[in-house]
Amino acid sequence: MFVRSFYDSDGDGIGDLRGLTSRLDYINDGNPQSTTSLGANCIWLMPIDKAMSYHGYDVVDYYHVDPHYGTDDDFRNLVAEAHRRGIHIIVDFVPNHSGSQNPWFQSALRDPHSPYRNWYRWSKTLPEQKGPWGQQAWHKSPLRDEYYYGVFWHEMPDLNYKTPAVRGEMRKVLTYWLKEMHADGFRFDAIPYLVEDGERLQHSRGTHDVLRQLGKAIRAAAPESFTVGEMTDEASGVMESYYPDQLDSYFAFGVARATVQAAATGDARGFLKAVARANEKFPPRRWSPFLTNHDQSRVMTVLGDEAKARVAASAMLMLPGMPFLYYGEEIGMLGAKPDEMIRTPMQWDSVANGGFTTGAPWEPLQGDWKTKNVAVQEGDRASLLNHYKTLIHLRNANKALNIGSLALISTDDTTGTIAVWLRTSNDTSFLVVVNFGGHHDPLYMPKLPLRVSDQGYRFESLTYADPAHACTGAFISANMEAQVRSIAAQGVCVLKLRPR
Ligand code: CA
Repeated sequence: MFVRSFYDSDGDGIGDLRGLTSRLDYINDGNPQSTTSLGANCIWLMPIDKAMSYHGYDVVDYYHVDPHYGTDDDFRNLVAEAHRRGIHIIVDFVPNHSGSQNPWFQSALRDPHSPYRNWYRWSKTLPEQKGPWGQQAWHKSPLRDEYYYGVFWHEMPDLNYKTPAVRGEMRKVLTYWLKEMHADGFRFDAIPYLVEDGERLQHSRGTHDVLRQLGKAIRAAAPESFTVGEMTDEASGVMESYYPDQLDSYFAFGVARATVQAAATGDARGFLKAVARANEKFPPRRWSPFLTNHDQSRVMTVLGDEAKARVAASAMLMLPGMPFLYYGEEIGMLGAKPDEMIRTPMQWDSVANGGFTTGAPWEPLQGDWKTKNVAVQEGDRASLLNHYKTLIHLRNANKALNIGSLALISTDDTTGTIAVWLRTSNDTSFLVVVNFGGHHDPLYMPKLPLRVSDQGYRFESLTYADPAHACTGAFISANMEAQVRSIAAQGVCVLKLRPR
């Protein structure tokens, strides 16, 4: 969630922590019997530390909330109110670089004898070495004839993790947010670039060591905490190197891209390949599916079609691990780059400024807010919002869909549009049938694996179908062959299985 765009409590046009606190019931009202709220049990807040830019990824003070968002006590109150509803709060942690206006960097820049000097990397001359994607990563000091390293840009100088004091300070920051601010964990920003080892500018051994140390410090301070890392590199073997002992989970960018691609093209094969790889290579439940995030064009803009957005959500939310959705995705908010336009204010209702603020919003809303908003979709049982709610509540209510194992099921589908998988926990399995394609299809699964019992399965019930009646004629024979007579275009069916 981008706090700046969720809900403004004081009319200054900027979303804030009090605003978010007042809207927690939308995310989860804490009543397990109720299905009116979204049902999410964790919120990742994009950076709320005092920072230079509107996005917050250039931190000036790691120990205090940015005044635009409120006070440190507003944050503690948010956490207390979230916990009452069973919602955990994890905060963005930006370890790779500080903002250039951070007093640490200012001291290092102004005084070569500063105790903060080696918290950053300096060179008397301009090194020939470029950044990891060939960019200029060494920047001229505005004060003297020297250069400093900043992998993203000159206003974000990289912290130097070879300096023990930097590691110590960051352990202190993390412990502070857990112990004094009561956060439940962290989303680690841009993890591959923490330590530069000679020619190795990403995924270095030093980077893994730092993550290991910081992860250990977090688990020691708060054993129930949760950490998830941003690692966008999909090259083979890279994500594996961040297991088993660094952060708890990582965003599964490969699976995310493949899911959106499958929904866009109707071709399930890339999705099946990406999921098979994640299921095989990464530890169970320690990868996080999603569709698009705050750095990418919104999924509804990419797909441009509600049926496609629905099938993408169906697939994503029936995968294992901790899935993340980006605020507004659940109502199909639009947004294409530049970044400000994929981070526009939440569309709550049809009154002024979509109900986001009584003042002038920091960024104009998307043009469709009057017709596409939470209030409109709450009143429509078939809305995208209610589709998301149903899928999330299904997960919450069924262990197999939440923490169960995953087995991909082979089928006789020759169109390449259908994906089928089994989620199993204890004596319950769910067969998830997804048709990314645009045509009705019959489907035959030659053999379901023996999971639930030696005697095989029977269909107990159709737990969810989208659209309604998406599947007909589901049948499992005594020798475990399964058939679904037809599965609707862009349809999903979740079928509950029991031992025979
Ligand atoms: Ca405000």
